[in-house]
Amino acid sequence: MLIEKVIVEVDKESGFCPGVVSAIQKAEVELQTRPKLYCLGDIVHNSMEVKRLEDQGLVTISREELSKLHDTKVLLRAHGEPPSTYQLAAAQGIEIVDATCPVVLQLQKKIRRIFEQEPDSQIVIYGKHGHAEVVGLVGQTQNAAIVVERDEELDKIDFSRPVRLFSQTTMSVDGFRQLSAEIAQRMTEPSQLQTYDTICRQVANRIPHMREFASRHDVVLFVSGRKSSNGKALFEVCRSANARSFFVSQPEEVTLDMLTDAKCIGICGATSTPRWQMEQVANYVKELF
Ligand code: SF4
Repeated sequence: MLIEKVIVEVDKESGFCPGVVSAIQKAEVELQTRPKLYCLGDIVHNSMEVKRLEDQGLVTISREELSKLHDTKVLLRAHGEPPSTYQLAAAQGIEIVDATCPVVLQLQKKIRRIFEQEPDSQIVIYGKHGHAEVVGLVGQTQNAAIVVERDEELDKIDFSRPVRLFSQTTMSVDGFRQLSAEIAQRMTEPSQLQTYDTICRQVANRIPHMREFASRHDVVLFVSGRKSSNGKALFEVCRSANARSFFVSQPEEVTLDMLTDAKCIGICGATSTPRWQMEQVANYVKELF
């Protein structure tokens, strides 16, 4: 196959969302003036980008490791943290570099305000159990919020009492609408349900674009870390639009079999995929030919 007959296109709209860009910039600025900076959890769900930053001095730590640190600086990533993390840091002389995304920060504040102002209401969060952002949101309610990921979990809600429904920022808009409708149907008094669509459009708006991008290429190489929930969701969007979509986390995973007879290859990725990694895959594909 001749290279001039094959078009390899990297999607211009794929890549980091503004929240992740800002967190990485904050880490890089800090690392210009100090050899080491701790970060609570992976700064982004992409092991190659984490490795790039670790080579500059970023040290990823767990919650348990945080509890043993004193008098140092710790970066909080875009997902945000519950109040207990800030309290722990203050008690141990840890200076926080807060890279919580402003969109998540607003959501945390909104949940906290309603929790404090409406003690009779149940705060329900449509989100993934154990996801860092959800842990941060639940923490705003002294862990009283009910997390619901699918319909089968709705029995945790008392439908005879007021419900305030929020969403983790990266959930699907359709999923939120369906859940809202199901809760409304079960409420004893439907007017006691208030829904807040708090899904980040940086993610949601990529879905129609991704569908269009995938359908106009013979083969799609979707580049993402395997831990990224946004990566899994966007890959499914690609696959539903183009059955010849492949999930790759590094260039070497691309094989000639994947590209058989392809004249037009699209490379795209998740909100946690750096542009350089998509370019790397594009170069690898060109070399394969
Ligand atoms: S997806 Fe949206 S809310 Fe989440 S970090 Fe990115 S910009 Fe912020």
